[in-house]
Amino acid sequence: MKNKIKSWLGFSTSTTNAAPKGEEMENMFCYQCEQAANGGCSKVGVCGKKPDVAALQDQLVYSMKGIAFWAHKAREKGAKDSAIDHFMLDGLFTTVTNVDFDAEEIAKLVRDAAKNRDKAQALFEKANGGPFTGDVPDAAKPFTPGSTDQLVALGAEHGVKDDSIDPDVKSVQEIIIYGMKGYAAYAHHALVIGLENDEIYAYTHQALSATLDKSLGLMDFVGLAMECGRINLITMQLLDKANTDSFGHPVPTPVQLGTKAGKAILVSGHDLRMLEELLKQTEGKGVNVYTHGEMLPAHGYPGLKKYTHLVGNFGGAWQDQAKEFAGFPGAIIFNTNCIQRPAETYKDRLFTWGLVQWPDVKNIAGMDFSPVIEKALSLPGFEENLGKEILTGFGHNAVLGVADKVIDAVKAGQIRHFFLIGGCDGAKSGRNYYTEFAEKVPSDCVILTLACGKYRFNKLDFGDIGGIPRLLDIGQCNDAYSAIQIAVALAGAFKCGVNDLPLSFILSWYEQKAVAILLTLLHLGIKDIKLGPTLPAFITPNVLNFLVENFNIGPIGTAEGDLKQILG
Ligand code: SF4
Repeated sequence: MKNKIKSWLGFSTSTTNAAPKGEEMENMFCYQCEQAANGGCSKVGVCGKKPDVAALQDQLVYSMKGIAFWAHKAREKGAKDSAIDHFMLDGLFTTVTNVDFDAEEIAKLVRDAAKNRDKAQALFEKANGGPFTGDVPDAAKPFTPGSTDQLVALGAEHGVKDDSIDPDVKSVQEIIIYGMKGYAAYAHHALVIGLENDEIYAYTHQALSATLDKSLGLMDFVGLAMECGRINLITMQLLDKANTDSFGHPVPTPVQLGTKAGKAILVSGHDLRMLEELLKQTEGKGVNVYTHGEMLPAHGYPGLKKYTHLVGNFGGAWQDQAKEFAGFPGAIIFNTNCIQRPAETYKDRLFTWGLVQWPDVKNIAGMDFSPVIEKALSLPGFEENLGKEILTGFGHNAVLGVADKVIDAVKAGQIRHFFLIGGCDGAKSGRNYYTEFAEKVPSDCVILTLACGKYRFNKLDFGDIGGIPRLLDIGQCNDAYSAIQIAVALAGAFKCGVNDLPLSFILSWYEQKAVAILLTLLHLGIKDIKLGPTLPAFITPNVLNFLVENFNIGPIGTAEGDLKQILG
């Protein structure tokens, strides 16, 4: 067991909740994503986040803990406020990696947080019939926000590091907060479509408020972390319902990787409702729409694929955007996380939507995409250059629709094993493992994939087994819900538990949505997950030990070695 813990790539005890060695002067501290430098970005974010933005995000999270303190207490008295609930989703989603790099926009949210705090306290006092008589933590006390510079200074005092908290407790608290950030993004997409679930808000207030409660111990937070996994499951289910009610269940669909002649708009992100609106507004205007990154599965939804000008998928991994976008002769818009520092080669035709912000890049706040369409019409667009096609659209409805065929193939020995190779992609080394793993999966095994890690291998030819494609693209990261539905249905058919299925989880992580999904898998009791490319810097050795002991979670090794270990 100890060997397994020691074998985590890049792992060292100095990486957790402590200043990176050799970094005496810190401008900031953030360790929430996989590309954290030396255990935490301390000069400037590897993602491009500057110290002022980091401090403002820290202040925003601190302020939301204060709101949660009062909102949770108000809920205990039966009072709630949907504007406060929605603000929490916005605030958490804003602090996800690669979402908002604009200091002034985050400062506005911190000012809104002060108002929401006042509102939440008033909500409680009204429901309580008088003021609270216990101790109020500093984060929950009123504050008058000043200038952006003053908020930056305040945020610097309320950063992630807190020596007054036991490192293991702090580790689990951060896991919970990152899990919440992840599901907040999914809940936000569902809310844009019009669906929400009050359990999500109740847990958000309870768990954020708990981080201010010094009487709680490690196992209290472990319990809250498992509950975070359950909340993410119901959030993914909610988003699945929102998407499939609106656009139908995905169906297997070939997606063109080449280009069609005509003006062009590229959409990157996860929000399907935003894509639908853009498709409506571009219909008949001679503008073709392409998907990028996590938007690829949009092609499988009947309600979106019916637009004939949704013509294909452009580019590869999200982290290659600066290089690839230079060659896109149209307008480009990000509707969720994944934006990187824009290169000058395309910055003037780049847009963001909703909570995504980059300084000096035009943000579309609502659903009027006229500026994007006008920009696309002013640009040359593509010449016709059709290329290869790849398949997407294997959501739970499509896969379970051929469940009998799949089960028969397993029983007949034609399918030996399923590998779910999914999760985020990223720029750091070590991710070639996932390409090699997929390439080396024996020809009598099926690969299920989801999220953007698929760009490591989704253009390779894997063939089929008796008509069942060997590579099934289930969808976006939130479609982990579909993967879980498929696994549960297979377990039911074979009258066994999910852990007893010939199914292995080979996961890659990058940002906080992956943390939420991992917590969901742990909440469901899924064991033997292989995770890479490196251990999160916010996990202490004792917390890692807990995960290994209880879930047998382990690091990726070599593709060959891991396959041998799994298949025997
Ligand atoms: S989000 Fe990731 S890359 Fe950006 S500052 Fe934080 S740890 Fe560093």
